[in-house]
Amino acid sequence: MRAVRFHGPDTGLRTVDLPAPDPVGTQVRIRVAGCGVCHTDLHVVDGTQTRVVPPVTMGHEVAGWIDALGPDVTDAPPIGTPVVVFGGWGCGDCRECRAGAEQRCRESVAPGFQADGGYASAMLVPHPRHLVTLSTLDPIHAAPLADAGITPYRAVTRAEPWLRRDARVLVIGCGALGQFALQYLRLLPAHGPSLSITVRERNPARLERATELGADAVQLGGTDEPSATFDIVLDFVGSAETLASAAAALGPDGLAMLVGEAGGAIPFGFDHVPIESWLTTTAWGSAGDLRDVVRLAEEGRITWSTERVSLEDAVEAHRRLRAGDVEGRLVLVPGAEDGRA
Ligand SMILES: [Zn+2]
Ligand SMILES: [Zn+2]
Repeated sequence: MRAVRFHGPDTGLRTVDLPAPDPVGTQVRIRVAGCGVCHTDLHVVDGTQTRVVPPVTMGHEVAGWIDALGPDVTDAPPIGTPVVVFGGWGCGDCRECRAGAEQRCRESVAPGFQADGGYASAMLVPHPRHLVTLSTLDPIHAAPLADAGITPYRAVTRAEPWLRRDARVLVIGCGALGQFALQYLRLLPAHGPSLSITVRERNPARLERATELGADAVQLGGTDEPSATFDIVLDFVGSAETLASAAAALGPDGLAMLVGEAGGAIPFGFDHVPIESWLTTTAWGSAGDLRDVVRLAEEGRITWSTERVSLEDAVEAHRRLRAGDVEGRLVLVPGAEDGRA
């Protein structure tokens, strides 16, 4: 099978032929339909993402079909079932895992970081509990739900205590995650329709999309940023620059949530952040979040756009994402001749 692997920041990506992996124990082999290309993948290639263990097959936003079961799998959907892969693979036994937050497990590994991921025709998932079954959605189109879909879902649900009637919300970055976030902000909280939502983004085309998705106001980032204060700031970029602007935009008792993994940091202290403000990170989501998001998607209540790109063109896909030359989510699709390798 074909696989696009990361061999370390000095070597970059290599496309190689490997034998399709055989599932052992409770593993499930997935025949990959598509794998989304995430900004975090660029941080992996740049060597700025921590906890990456090369060489590793890239890709953490995967959907496909159940292809083979390990001998110890006792309860799994039938071979051929379309699924989205939840990527936070915990120990299954600690307090976080038992509470359904395996992505927070200290032992957790994730495809595309420490385990082989979905830039390939097939991949192994350690246990069927990490699979969410699709009914009507096309798995190629559904792949981005595994990260771009659930990460902002978790951010918005965690921000709910701040999402009071007429609350002022600033969304920084309106790529795939920001576009999901806008929809969740209107859809999920009781006061969603009353929120005053501003989007700050560098790409003018994305600002148009933000307006279509319900933003009340849009700002071209990097130009004159008005000095309004906000009750909630969601930073989907996470550079030092956007974090500083998130803190500067926050009112007292406001919530700033760091979601984007560009690696930025700001000082924390009385003279550095607004008085009695709240700063938190949100990383990925839980398997339960993914089930909720897949249900919303199956019901047609959220929308997102995908562009299919051949797996062979992964490097070009990264170049385009880096250049900002992407409207929705790029999804790498293995070649048809490759699918049963
Ligand atoms: Zn991602
Ligand atoms: Zn655990």
